Amino acid sequence: MRTAIYPGSFDPPTNGHVDIIRRSSKLFDHVIVAVAENPAKVYSFSVEDRMDMLREIVKPYNNISVDHFTGLLVEYADRIGAVTIIRGLRALSDFEYEFELALMNRHLNSKVDTIFMMTDEHYSFVRSSLVKEVARLGGDISDKVPPVVEKYLRNLYKIEK
Ligand code: ADP
Repeated sequence: MRTAIYPGSFDPPTNGHVDIIRRSSKLFDHVIVAVAENPAKVYSFSVEDRMDMLREIVKPYNNISVDHFTGLLVEYADRIGAVTIIRGLRALSDFEYEFELALMNRHLNSKVDTIFMMTDEHYSFVRSSLVKEVARLGGDISDKVPPVVEKYLRNLYKIEK
């Protein structure tokens, strides 16, 4: 059984994340979308909200589940028996950070490998922070996030519709 983890903040999940989820579901027997809970970071959505949105998103896939973790990702991977970490890559700007992260994770645990999936061209400029900014200002983000996320964003920014 090949289990992979797709970790991230997912604050909130976007269609870019959904695309990586959809594609990874075809590559692995089981994919765990793992919501990071980093006490040093300030999130717009609670871990429960982020997990609720993701649970709705992964409903169509019977080999994907949603979990959360704190602490070191590679230790979490060990605990659940995953040997692959999936990360998405957008433009060049993602590369340096992701490269460092993957090397550090390999240094910490050489049994766990990171694979990168290149973003779909439609989502190359879609990031959670930008989506939040546009939603906060009342812009249309309906083609950038799943409907459930749009609902949570409207609620966060008290936008009537
Ligand atoms: P993190 O805080 O861990 O970077 P994110 O939720 O921002 O968490 O992203 C999780 C993963 O999904 C990262 O590997 C990121 O590069 C990837 N990702 C984010 N947006 C996109 C997108 N539009 N297309 C492809 N991958 C993406």
